[in-house]
Amino acid sequence: TPAIEAVDLVRRYELDGVAVEALRGVTLRIDRGEFAAVIGPSGSGKSTLMHLLGCLDRPTSGVLRINGVELAGLTDTELAELRNRTIGFVFQSFHLLGRTSALDNVALPLVYRGVGKAERRDRACAALESVGLGHRLDHRPSQMSGGEQQRVAIARALVGEPKVLLADEPTGNLDTGNGTEVMALLDRLNGAGGVAVVLVTHEPEIAAHARRQIHVRDGLIERDTAAP
Ligand code: ADP
Ligand code: ADP
Repeated sequence: TPAIEAVDLVRRYELDGVAVEALRGVTLRIDRGEFAAVIGPSGSGKSTLMHLLGCLDRPTSGVLRINGVELAGLTDTELAELRNRTIGFVFQSFHLLGRTSALDNVALPLVYRGVGKAERRDRACAALESVGLGHRLDHRPSQMSGGEQQRVAIARALVGEPKVLLADEPTGNLDTGNGTEVMALLDRLNGAGGVAVVLVTHEPEIAAHARRQIHVRDGLIERDTAAP
């Protein structure tokens, strides 16, 4: 099963009685272990697409399957469960609890899954080690650099062993050096664990780190290229 299968996705918004078609028929397949960048100008539909792929929103029409499960038949509760089990999120602005230790930030998603305390600690430690922060378990995000905070956020996104990691401008708040480091980390984690990584960026140099570039324009995929 592909990690993501989208056929003719349309997402229409109503704004003051006027319909805006943010996505106008997107067909896309992302296989397990792929590493893809979605690029396109502002307003082209990138965020709308990421929200659909992340099960945060539903398409107006079209078919979307995440890890083989078709969204159309799911209740909102089932959709939230699919999201929690299958998708990890990383944001531009990290969204960490600033005064909570890195370890507890990373363990938090496991609390909602009913994982016991000892196992939460073990898994959060392992996730932080995998992003090179095994020596920062008790540090708080407010004491960390932007690059370190984003690595904590990546550990939190991966601790639940998702099939897909969705990252919205993950390097947008980082300088070039830290941005490059975060991309190298995503590349390594993608290669090691087989998690599919899909990131949105408007920076071509960042997109070039991915093996596949999906160019979005006016709600459509304009070009989809992959390195051999
Ligand atoms: P991008 O992420 O590429 O900047 P978006 O997906 O945010 O693009 O937006 C695509 C189009 O959909 C834009 O024209 C935007 O104004 C419109 N849009 C996005 N979200 C909403 C919304 N909640 N209500 C109305 N229009 C929206
Ligand atoms: P950033 O600027 O770092 O990307 P924002 O707070 O602007 O962070 O964007 C976060 C986006 O994630 C919002 O568009 C929001 O709609 C979406 N979102 C809302 N709830 C969740 C959730 N539970 N998990 C992941 N993303 C969410």
